Amino acid sequence: MTNDVRNVKVCSTCQLGKEPAAFAKDKHRVDGLKNVCRSCAADYAAAYREKHREELNAYQRQWRRDNPTYQREWREYGPRRTK
Ligand SMILES: [Zn+2]
Repeated sequence: MTNDVRNVKVCSTCQLGKEPAAFAKDKHRVDGLKNVCRSCAADYAAAYREKHREELNAYQRQWRRDNPTYQREWREYGPRRTK
């Protein structure tokens, strides 16, 4: 079994070295991967949702008001096809 350190990327949040598959892709970055591993990104997203729950709910309520037929159309026609 080899221990190829070249294939390990260190997460900027948990500071653990992980294989590239543990990082989500980010085409804006030089190495094509995010600096934060998937597990930290998931934690961050959960914390963000928790912290901004009211805002997100308000945004969703507003969106539903702006798109009142969306859910019914989805049930009847499935995903909207764009031209
Ligand atoms: Zn991490």
